[in-house]
Amino acid sequence: MEAAPCQTSSVKGLEHGTREKEHSTVTRKVPRDVQMDIEYLYEVVPQLSRVFRITDKIGEGTFSSVYLGEAQITSGEREKFALKHLIPTSHPVRIAAELQCLTVAGGKENVMGVTYCFRKDHHVVIVMPYVEHQAFVDIVGTLSYEEVRQYIYHLLKALKHIHKFGIIHRDIKPTNFLYNRRENKYALVDFGLAQGTPDTQIQLLKVVKAKAHRAGGGSAGKCEDSQGKQAQVPLPPNKRSPVPHSSTKAAVKKPCTKHNKELLGLSKTSRSVFGERNLNSINHAKNPSDKIEGHLVKPSKADDISARKLASTKRRAVPSRGPAASQKPKSAALNPPLTCNCYMSDRICNICLSRKQQVAPRAGTPGFRAPEVLTKCPNQGTAIDMWSAGVILLSLLSGRYPFFKASDDLVALTQIMTIRGSRETMQAAGKFGKAVMCSRELPRLDLRILCETLRGVRPCGEDSLPAEFRASRHPADAKQDLTDPAATQSSQSRTDTSKSTGRLQDRGWDSVPDDMYDLLDKLLDLNPETRITADEALQHPVFKDLSDE
Ligand code: ADP
Ligand code: MG
Ligand code: ZN
Repeated sequence: MEAAPCQTSSVKGLEHGTREKEHSTVTRKVPRDVQMDIEYLYEVVPQLSRVFRITDKIGEGTFSSVYLGEAQITSGEREKFALKHLIPTSHPVRIAAELQCLTVAGGKENVMGVTYCFRKDHHVVIVMPYVEHQAFVDIVGTLSYEEVRQYIYHLLKALKHIHKFGIIHRDIKPTNFLYNRRENKYALVDFGLAQGTPDTQIQLLKVVKAKAHRAGGGSAGKCEDSQGKQAQVPLPPNKRSPVPHSSTKAAVKKPCTKHNKELLGLSKTSRSVFGERNLNSINHAKNPSDKIEGHLVKPSKADDISARKLASTKRRAVPSRGPAASQKPKSAALNPPLTCNCYMSDRICNICLSRKQQVAPRAGTPGFRAPEVLTKCPNQGTAIDMWSAGVILLSLLSGRYPFFKASDDLVALTQIMTIRGSRETMQAAGKFGKAVMCSRELPRLDLRILCETLRGVRPCGEDSLPAEFRASRHPADAKQDLTDPAATQSSQSRTDTSKSTGRLQDRGWDSVPDDMYDLLDKLLDLNPETRITADEALQHPVFKDLSDE
């Protein structure tokens, strides 16, 4: 099916004229502002009114508003639909690619399908079957072990399916995986950030790449400020200079300086000091962007937005760009050796000052981003979705959501190190051509001890977990500073045993098999090369009895 702009008449499977005369007369009282939004939607896409009675708004994000609509289907029955109204500034190719993912891969294997699509001018509404679902945050602490096992199994099934089509979802998180607990229904939604693998079967994902390539290529020599800000994290005491980076402070306003810096709230933490450095010699030479002492490129919401908009003014290319794309040959001075003058020091040498920022996709939500995404590794594949699935499983097993509540990539990487170990993270980063540094050694945690302690199955002994995890079990610290990676470990939603349905042992939490933690460990493999694939994960012993389903 063509995912091109949509027809306005003869909706297959839907009948016209089913909308009540007065659409603002809704069965359930909806707030005034929602009513106004519904009016607006009818106004900008009037053909909707011939088919749907829109009764509520069920989702509101940066890129879309999702409404609940009812229509009479050809059999005469009334059916519920989700109407996703995309922000009018979305790029047509991006919209078409989202639709093509739904039409080609959707409708089976726990992947959302599409019923129809409406367009009027630059307003596009994607109509999908409505899947009633619960908010993850409300149920994560109340699920039984068996429900958790089923949930992750069904998520893996959806991932296996889309990965088979060469779709990298890039935004795997609970709000994009709808779960109807009562009916055991699951649906992966939101292909708004999806990208294709090199051999993707979704033709438009290739176009998305090409477009982004063009958008990024033209800006190769340009400077970034608002989007390309670089962030500085505190240096270890022994590395701190009296007036740190005073020279680069002035550079903030100066265009085309790669080491523009901005202090993060992270300084409050005094925990982590790390940076990244590109050790990949090809990238180093062609697109040199390695960082030195304690800084990473700061992400921004604008990244995600531009990834969706594919705006021509966009400054950062989304997919991996050809190494030499529209770049002039560089002088030897710009092709520095692997270890430059300032490596591991608190200064930035001239070689590094002249480097360009690395271009790599970084869409998604910080707390669910894989280490290779956080460090802007240009080679990103379907493994990034597997990492995100691992973060979801971590939430499911510990009862804590969101698990990593990171406002940006630096915080997110620190939080990963607190769980997976700083040395292990540095080692893995080296394997994909990045260097990560950490001022203090953070030991790798035992996943079972971590999850069981947070869930409350295991008493939090003095030595079982680092202090921040022990403290985080007490509701009193629920509202700690979000910029503190230690404090963010305290949750918004924690296991509240009093509210949970049944005692922990009744819900199977006292006897989680080692296999489940083994799977978690393999999903949260810091190295994307060795990280478990969806196909492999479905064959993991923990799903032995489910594999024929
Ligand atoms: P966005 O790109 O804005 O994140 P999504 O496609 O993720 O848009 O949809 C936003 C929210 O709308 C989802 O988190 C979900 O709550 C709701 N939603 C989306 N599609 C459906 C659907 N088919 N059925 C029920 N709810 C849906
Ligand atoms: Mg979404
Ligand atoms: Zn240097």
